[in-house]
Amino acid sequence: MTPQEILKKHWGYSAFKPLQKEAIEAALSGRDCLVVLPTGGGKSLCYQLPAAMGKGLVLVVSPLIALMDDQVAAAREAGLAADALHSNLKVAPKREVYKNLADGTTQLLYVSPERLLAGDLFDLIAERLILAAVDEAHCVSHWGHEFRPEYRRLTEALDRFPKAARMALTATATPAVQRDILAQLALRSPELLIGHPDRPNLIYRAFPRRDQIKQVLETVRRHPGEGGIVYAQTRKDVERLAASLKKEGVSSAPYHAGLNAEDRRKAQDDFVNERLDVVVATIAFGMGIDRSNVRYVIHANTPRSVEHYQQESGRAGRDGLPAECTLLFSASDLATHRWLAKKDIYITAERARALDNQLKDIGRYAVSPVCRHGLLVEHFGAPYPADGVPHGEEGCGACDVCLGETKGLPPEEAILTAKKVLSAAWRAEGRYGTGYVVNLLLGRPNDRMTANGHDQLKVFGLLQEAGEPAVRSWIDQLIVQDYLEVTEESEYPLLRITQAGRDLCQDKGEVRLGLPVQAAKGKKKSKALRNAAPGFTESDEALFEKLRAVRRALADKAGIAPYVVCQDTTLLEIAAVKPATPEALLDIKGMGEKRVKKYGALFLDVLAGKNPAVE
Ligand code: ADP
Ligand code: ZN
Repeated sequence: MTPQEILKKHWGYSAFKPLQKEAIEAALSGRDCLVVLPTGGGKSLCYQLPAAMGKGLVLVVSPLIALMDDQVAAAREAGLAADALHSNLKVAPKREVYKNLADGTTQLLYVSPERLLAGDLFDLIAERLILAAVDEAHCVSHWGHEFRPEYRRLTEALDRFPKAARMALTATATPAVQRDILAQLALRSPELLIGHPDRPNLIYRAFPRRDQIKQVLETVRRHPGEGGIVYAQTRKDVERLAASLKKEGVSSAPYHAGLNAEDRRKAQDDFVNERLDVVVATIAFGMGIDRSNVRYVIHANTPRSVEHYQQESGRAGRDGLPAECTLLFSASDLATHRWLAKKDIYITAERARALDNQLKDIGRYAVSPVCRHGLLVEHFGAPYPADGVPHGEEGCGACDVCLGETKGLPPEEAILTAKKVLSAAWRAEGRYGTGYVVNLLLGRPNDRMTANGHDQLKVFGLLQEAGEPAVRSWIDQLIVQDYLEVTEESEYPLLRITQAGRDLCQDKGEVRLGLPVQAAKGKKKSKALRNAAPGFTESDEALFEKLRAVRRALADKAGIAPYVVCQDTTLLEIAAVKPATPEALLDIKGMGEKRVKKYGALFLDVLAGKNPAVE
């Protein structure tokens, strides 16, 4: 069978996604390759399909033990003989895995790096191994943000399989990280398969934070009954937000490193198995989450870097259906990150400088009134749009700027506004905090201001019309553009104009200022589903929900996650197309032969208006 035929038979797909075919061909011809594809790009198929060809064993090294069992389950659903070896495995199943290996029946084997480095597998698999795939390959790099020392030793292990092709895969890799991967894994004249990092199905928004819970709820309310993740900076933030959401009747739970292991495990399990809609979490949550129908990710605080943002927001919409990513920005979050880093006794001066640059980058991302898709993609060194043809008036159509929810001030107005804010800070001589400067610009006197005679200044009340949220946001925007700085030399953070700021007041330099003009529209349930499947009606949507319920029951019974049974996209297509026979079901994307055999009859019953019992 050809790879194309295997794709249809096992996975029920009739076309490859970009670069999948190239990766599979490289593997089958024994050539090394590096695959960089965004989340949802279909990386797993690149090594799973060669395993399904029946030509030998494929080994997958993955650092995420929590995900391995899910991936094994998903591969088995596609009809592969898949196993995993990691430290959480009990004795009996482990014996089974070794027996399969000895019998030569295993097609796909997941291992943790430690497990592979232990060495006892080498002789058992060397003969049959055609491909060694290293997933999350950015972990070899110091530049990546999840450096794993044991990944650096993988080459020792890979060298034991000289005949097997090597495939390194990752979602996030700047050019520096790519070079590191090639060198550290000693890829031999590798083929470079670098996809475009854009995620067109994600709608990115970045707004100044004004009322955290209110802004979070705006997004949550658009997605009743759908999965979402809310990231917050500290445990306290997490607890507070989770409590507020609960009070509002949202199915939600907190998740952070301070909770006991049992509570964390429950939150994660409930979320993955769709018994829970929303998890409010610190970044400790997410590494082990492969739920593919997460419809939104909200950052209630500013993340630490653009890389973190890309990775965390990337957990939305893995299934390719529309999803939202909203970031609520405040410059004070950046100060908190700096403060938290300072408490870390291991931080070197070099690392602190790097952190500073990362914070500036994420700040710029959040406040520039520029297409967010473009900003993100360019950060990772790729052109935007991918084909180089500039978008028209409507822009990407999938970010707050292009949707007209955030407007950039015209250049003359931006510079004029910036000068007003800067001169207020200048007049305050760096002796006061942000609040003082805000009050000065809004014309709200207090005793100290009067004593200083600042209420007599020309800048007093100069931005009264604009209102407090705008003025605060402009100050933040000027901070990330280095025209203002927050100093922490005294007990309180003080706002001070920089040399660049003084230059700008003398018309030397350029500035960009933006302003949110309207809240993201739509109180009702998102139209995501309908947009994804044209002609999708309300009754189709009801059908989709019924199919979802049956899927959940099937998953519960089998002890696997619902998305492992099959993806939302597959259920959507079934609800829209309404196939009447098992043969017709085979034409649905994602319904391979094994799935049709296992679940086909139940799905057809739902379509026929019956209420099938899952037993
Ligand atoms: P990644 O690991 O790159 O984030 P996955 O391997 O999880 O991506 O795949 C993302 C989704 O795309 C999965 O739902 C998968 O079933 C689906 N997929 C993979 N290959 C194809 C294809 N050729 N056609 C349609 N869907 C695909
Ligand atoms: Zn845009």
